[in-house]
Amino acid sequence: MAKPMSILFVSSEVVPFAKTGGLADVSAALPQVVRELGHDIRIIMPKFAAVSDRKFKIHDIKRLTDMPIQLGDRTFLGSVKSSFLTNIKTKVQVYFLSNEQLYCRSDLYVDPKTKEAWPDNDDRFIFFCRGVIETLILLGWKPDIIHLNDWQSGLIAALLKTEYANEPLFKNTKVVFTVHNAAYQGVFPKTSFVKTGLPDKAFKLEGIEFHGDINLLKAGLMYADAITTVSPTYAKEVRSTKEYGYGLEGVFKKKARKTYGILNGMDVSIWNPEIDKVIPKTYSAETLEGKLENKKALCDHFKLPYDPRVPVIGIVSRLADQKGFDLIQEKLEDLMKMDLQLVVLGSGEKKYEDLFTKAAKKYKKKVGAHIGFDEELAHLIEAGADMFLMPSKYEPCGLNQMYSLRYGTLPIVRSTGGLADTVEDLDAKPKSGTGFVFEKYNAKQMLDTIKRALSAFGDEKMWQAAMKRAMMKDNSWDASAQKYIELYKNLLKKK
Ligand code: ADP
Repeated sequence: MAKPMSILFVSSEVVPFAKTGGLADVSAALPQVVRELGHDIRIIMPKFAAVSDRKFKIHDIKRLTDMPIQLGDRTFLGSVKSSFLTNIKTKVQVYFLSNEQLYCRSDLYVDPKTKEAWPDNDDRFIFFCRGVIETLILLGWKPDIIHLNDWQSGLIAALLKTEYANEPLFKNTKVVFTVHNAAYQGVFPKTSFVKTGLPDKAFKLEGIEFHGDINLLKAGLMYADAITTVSPTYAKEVRSTKEYGYGLEGVFKKKARKTYGILNGMDVSIWNPEIDKVIPKTYSAETLEGKLENKKALCDHFKLPYDPRVPVIGIVSRLADQKGFDLIQEKLEDLMKMDLQLVVLGSGEKKYEDLFTKAAKKYKKKVGAHIGFDEELAHLIEAGADMFLMPSKYEPCGLNQMYSLRYGTLPIVRSTGGLADTVEDLDAKPKSGTGFVFEKYNAKQMLDTIKRALSAFGDEKMWQAAMKRAMMKDNSWDASAQKYIELYKNLLKKK
């Protein structure tokens, strides 16, 4: 094997320590595969309240206790703790940057009482970025690659290219910045700029300035050596229009030559119907009848009548506008006239929580809704449903459609981002299709596509063939991790 590389993977959420979305799944799975391939990869994340010392066997690193981290004229103290992410094959070291005042709260980014971002999120994540760099210096560990993820770690790229440009430890270090969702940018008022520690010259169009504010996603984009997005289609979309680039489309365009779309993989040790530990009955493409037991259990769970001939459509999602819930809202009454059942697991915007709670009360035999976050139920829905609905406005990669394919639960998706890259329409391609795809973001197209899916469900032979094809798709991390490793290597070749 070629020379192993050392890589620091920086993320604000990592399964099983803390999670709000797909970023957490990626931040656990990718490093583990890179480690299996022989590289020294370590992870660093904030020590949120959910990261329990006892549960995760976390220990202190004595020489990294009470490090002073400067934010403008205030000094915060940060301590680093450590644990491991273990699977049957490997162990990846995880560092946690802790500061009780900043991180010990009931939610990662949002105050559950107000549903607004914590008012001091600038402090929380500027502290994180400055703390990560100080940690490396105190550890004396010199990564070849620092791999940043989303706005929460974007500032690190800017700091390394300015304040720390002459730090010998980082002389040959290259920075990769992965965008998991361009809509979340970490925008703060100009008054937060002094806290970053960046030189004045960084507050400009070519730096982190954004309409008079600062933008930490832009910090990552402007200063990283390479940018990746989590699917090839999303890489093109973010530079195409404001709807996708959220005001940074110009920056994405400017950085197009440094940008690579690498599709996320899925963790097949967790999401695999053949070995899934939390579903009532495991099954495979050869034992599809096992899926029906899960369907029955799913209906029982939601107290819905079970009928193998009535298709169950599943949804597991953050209840956010991005995911296309306004389309579902618009057509809910029409859907209820159709011969189907709908099960929804999600939490988020109140208007959508109310929509599904009310629908479950009104249509007791047709709709099941669980408002909340529940990993086990997410598995049961993937295993028990016949179809999975994701009519997203945009979808940087999306994991649930990949889980659905693996569980033989045919996805109904809008053709955007990673959905476009992973699902093929069954009517357009009867021999290779694995789901149902519509182009335009409009409720009628979604409804017509659901009708197509229902009609295909009636053809058992064709449906089962499509299920088998979907289950055979290899969306594991192996191929994608190789692409990241190639990217790291190519960057290191550059002076
Ligand atoms: P995003 O990162 O935009 O939320 P993804 O599809 O990439 O969307 O990833 C979502 C991840 O979060 C999946 O692992 C999905 O199963 C999980 N998830 C989302 N909402 C819930 C929920 N309410 N309960 C359990 N898991 C959820």
